[in-house]
Amino acid sequence: MGKRYYCAYCDRSFKDDTEARKKHLSSLQHAKNRADHYNIYKDPEVILKEECAKMPCKRYMTVGDCAFGLGCRYSHYTPPMIWELQRLVHMKTESRLHAMPKNGWPNPDDITKEYFENSMNPSSTEEPSYPTWFKPLELHDYSRLPPSLWPITPESLADTSTFKEWG
Ligand SMILES: [Zn+2]
Ligand SMILES: [Zn+2]
Repeated sequence: MGKRYYCAYCDRSFKDDTEARKKHLSSLQHAKNRADHYNIYKDPEVILKEECAKMPCKRYMTVGDCAFGLGCRYSHYTPPMIWELQRLVHMKTESRLHAMPKNGWPNPDDITKEYFENSMNPSSTEEPSYPTWFKPLELHDYSRLPPSLWPITPESLADTSTFKEWG
């Protein structure tokens, strides 16, 4: 029985000959497993810095595979992967800021501004939708409610008979 080569990243063992080992180490599956293995322990910030310092690997971007794998001196990170990293780094920075006792609280002015900017955004061409708290579902059937709680409509204002009931 010949020697076996065991790959810890892939949790796989196979016959240890130069050809098979080379083939495995350059396989995409292995590169992915190895990257996953390291990225769990690596800070997205570090990865982002490293990858941004590299030129994108032309071979990897066009063919989708590169024999150098992670040993490649060019970056194998595609733009969506970089964006995802930037998002992760941003989220981390944000949560770090919020964890701080001072200056960590959201500014009430910002919240108000954000709220009005969002709710008054006229770009939407859909039917106006009201915030859910405007009309709770349970209250749709308001005929079961006392008249004083009914929504005011032009008709209800014109109908003076209700005022007698209120008396
Ligand atoms: Zn492997
Ligand atoms: Zn490459």
